[in-house]
Amino acid sequence: MATVRRPEPRKTRKCPLCGHAAEEDYRPFCSKRCKQLDLGRWLDESYRVPVVETDDLDIDGEDEPYDS
Ligand SMILES: [Zn+2]
Repeated sequence: MATVRRPEPRKTRKCPLCGHAAEEDYRPFCSKRCKQLDLGRWLDESYRVPVVETDDLDIDGEDEPYDS
């Protein structure tokens, strides 16, 4: 399946890291790279990403509330 870039409605899940459309194989990320990046990131920073399938979640990663 070719990667066609088109204006996606909010229905489509987007990679929380780069905002590209998520790939089935790497949900909720767009690629293995982003998935691993994110994994490494929260392991590193102890930041938690709720594993949800919410469509209109607007996580950009940096503005998460920390409970410290
Ligand atoms: Zn991505």
